[in-house]
Amino acid sequence: MIVIPVIAFFVIEIMLGYVLFILFEGDLMEDRMGLFLSIRFIGLLTVLIITNGLLTYFVAKSIIQPVKRLQQAAKEISNGNLEFTIESSSRDELGQLSETFELMRKRLKESEELQTRYAENRKELIASISHDLKTPMTSIKGYIEGIRDGIANTPEKMERYIETIYAKTNDMDQLIDELFLYSKLDLNQVHYHFEHIDLWSYLSDFIEELAFDLEENDCNVSLFVNNQDTFIVQADREQLKRVLLNIIQNSLKYMDKDEKEIRVILTANADQVTVTIKDNGIGISEEAIPFIFERFYRTDTSRNTATGGSGLGLAIVRRIIEQHEGEIWAESKQGIGTSISFTLPKVGDVNEKNPDYRR
Ligand code: ADP
Repeated sequence: MIVIPVIAFFVIEIMLGYVLFILFEGDLMEDRMGLFLSIRFIGLLTVLIITNGLLTYFVAKSIIQPVKRLQQAAKEISNGNLEFTIESSSRDELGQLSETFELMRKRLKESEELQTRYAENRKELIASISHDLKTPMTSIKGYIEGIRDGIANTPEKMERYIETIYAKTNDMDQLIDELFLYSKLDLNQVHYHFEHIDLWSYLSDFIEELAFDLEENDCNVSLFVNNQDTFIVQADREQLKRVLLNIIQNSLKYMDKDEKEIRVILTANADQVTVTIKDNGIGISEEAIPFIFERFYRTDTSRNTATGGSGLGLAIVRRIIEQHEGEIWAESKQGIGTSISFTLPKVGDVNEKNPDYRR
């Protein structure tokens, strides 16, 4: 921008020199001198005016307009409007500033959307908790009123009423425990005691402990392991037990076959160990599978069946697995059965250093 007027000045001077020495042959009489000086003055003035115009145009285009756009954007943001985009056409500092501004607007929008989602979630959570507490509460109240009004007029009736009240109170107690645990997991307030665990050995013990209960339920449980692999993971024993119990209890709860079968399958690759718990129960419909790990989700929408359940079990299980840096998923065929699988990151092969890991 500075070079152009300088060149223009030189060109004018050269042209005037040409006029002076070639046309006037160096002879400047008084009237020619006046004309010569006027032309020189007008030429220089024109160059100044054009340069000034060009400068104003470019400054307005490259600085004032982007600054005005940024000023407008800041005003919109301060008014709480994030539904626009800030465009930057140049790669200079102002262009970079516009890009940073646009990034800030996007982040603000994302965080606003997240807040809205949280608020929606909270509302849903409160509605679900209220519903799930209200249902047993209403029925407890009904039975107590029955006793008070003398409807339970025989010892058998009285016993049945009291048993039902006791069962409903237990359901509520369990729901409150699960809610408490879920919210602790959600707030990352559960403290994990991670240690190296050989899952083969751990699962063998776990199934042995459970065998008695499962036999009582006429359920056959077996462990399948490829003994070429190693299965050492970093996990919290107690929380892992909670995960396994929850999945197995579901297998028992949603079972409709006479020959009840649960298979626990252990596989591994270089990075992770996968545990699959496969049952031959009622199965889950294809549409429901993506939602079963959501809190309060139950395939039985009435939430009132004999199977009970808060719909928090698998949500808790997923949280625990995620906090172990693992993944969890389900595969199922209605009428055939369900497989719930989860992974845990594998710890390097310490088997050689510590043979006690293997049974
Ligand atoms: P709930 O307390 O209702 O059992 P969960 O979170 O444990 O809640 O499970 C969510 C839903 O997933 C259940 O309501 C049930 O419909 C379905 N589900 C879970 N495990 C199984 C299974 N092994 N077989 C069939 N359905 C299952």
